[in-house]
Amino acid sequence: MKITKPVIIAGAGPVGCTAALRLAQAGIPVRLLEGLSDLPETLRASTFHPSSLDMIDELGMMDALKAQGLVCRKYQYRDRRTGAIAEFDLDVLRNDTKHPYRLQAEQYKYTRLIWDELQKNYSHVAECHYDHAVKGVHQTADGVEVLVWDKGQEKIIEGSYLIACDGADSAVRKAVAITFEGFTYPEKFLVASTPFPLETKFHNLALVNYISDPEEWLVLLRTPALWRVLIPTDPKVEDDALWLSDKWIQDRLHHMAPHDQDYEIIHRTIYRVHQRVAKTYRRGRVLIAGDAAHLNNPLGGMGANGGIHDAWNAAGKLMEINAGGDADALLDRYDRQRRLICMRFVQEHTINNKRLMEAKDPDVQQKRQADFMRQAADPELARAFLLKTSMIQSLRDEQQIQ
Ligand SMILES: Cc1cc2nc3c(=O)[nH]c(=O)nc-3n(C[C@H](O)[C@H](O)[C@H](O)COP(=O)(O)OP(=O)(O)OC[C@H]3O[C@@H](n4cnc5c(N)ncnc54)[C@H](O)[C@@H]3O)c2cc1C
Repeated sequence: MKITKPVIIAGAGPVGCTAALRLAQAGIPVRLLEGLSDLPETLRASTFHPSSLDMIDELGMMDALKAQGLVCRKYQYRDRRTGAIAEFDLDVLRNDTKHPYRLQAEQYKYTRLIWDELQKNYSHVAECHYDHAVKGVHQTADGVEVLVWDKGQEKIIEGSYLIACDGADSAVRKAVAITFEGFTYPEKFLVASTPFPLETKFHNLALVNYISDPEEWLVLLRTPALWRVLIPTDPKVEDDALWLSDKWIQDRLHHMAPHDQDYEIIHRTIYRVHQRVAKTYRRGRVLIAGDAAHLNNPLGGMGANGGIHDAWNAAGKLMEINAGGDADALLDRYDRQRRLICMRFVQEHTINNKRLMEAKDPDVQQKRQADFMRQAADPELARAFLLKTSMIQSLRDEQQIQ
């Protein structure tokens, strides 16, 4: 049935923005409601995988995003003790994707581009509002009534469907009583960013590097202006002030790469990491997507990318409904496809990744590194590995789920 009332989208993160633009481009009316008074510019996800880049290209936003990012064709798994390096070249995926590389760009650049695009070219179908925090939802036979907090004033906005992209603490997920099952890691993760050219400290460093070590594993990621270093903290010590202190960060960075001066730190953040998946991604006319639906550790950059894939799928289902498809069947399929992929692939992969990176047993580390090197050296094995890690395989698998 033709969708005439707007699809309401709660939250203008990468997931909400993707859903909004895809629907607007299909001529479906949307209202994108952001709770804050501007788009957040915090440094969070900074890797777009080939699978997401293909979608971003279809939205017509690829050139603009690429102009603000760094093309990363190769990435590495390094063993800090032995110095062994396994380097994967995404170019082996050139027949599987139009974008055989990761794009290193901060997620706020993407959301800003899409927000502006909606205002500039789709204002006839899309309304975007700041200061509109979604607090609750009531479902009727043919739509949703969304309770919104607009600068301290309550109001109701009517729509056809609600897509909740309101992040990890999703008010909508709670309002429709969907449980968020899983666990929280005992340790927090620190991300420190420095403009120092860390590539001068390592031999042949790639733009994305996973570095294992029985004493302290870390991830080194390049964004256009900064190197970001992700380090786990000690789970036995609950002291954010310590982890964020100059002394601790400088000690860790000097341990990673000795230097005769302090590193300049532009940005630091400490956060808790969870592995959780919502019990269902659908409650009637309410769909949940992105961090509202699933959380995972950042090893592999699958949080924001998986969320963009949810948004793509959810918007696609609404487009099919708009074209006369069976709404119930399509929305249930969204739940099955995206939830199963998350459980079977994203959760398993990220949990395993972390377990192996932090393994204390040198034999386990050595075997893992040898595995990576064997796969990286063989084009067929490398392709199979990269199809998985770039999340192309999960999109193919999703199509098999009815
Ligand atoms: C500190 C930090 C670092 C991270 N680093 C990485 C990383 O290195 N790599 C990686 O892959 N992932 C990382 N992540 C995860 C990644 O940022 C998320 O997976 C991604 O942002 C999910 O996008 P989203 O749109 O679902 O949610 P969000 O980006 O959280 O966006 C939600 C939006 O909804 C708005 N909102 C919230 N509540 C409401 C409401 N009630 N009504 C209306 N609007 C609302 C928020 O203001 C926000 O704009 C990090 C996360 C954090 C917290």
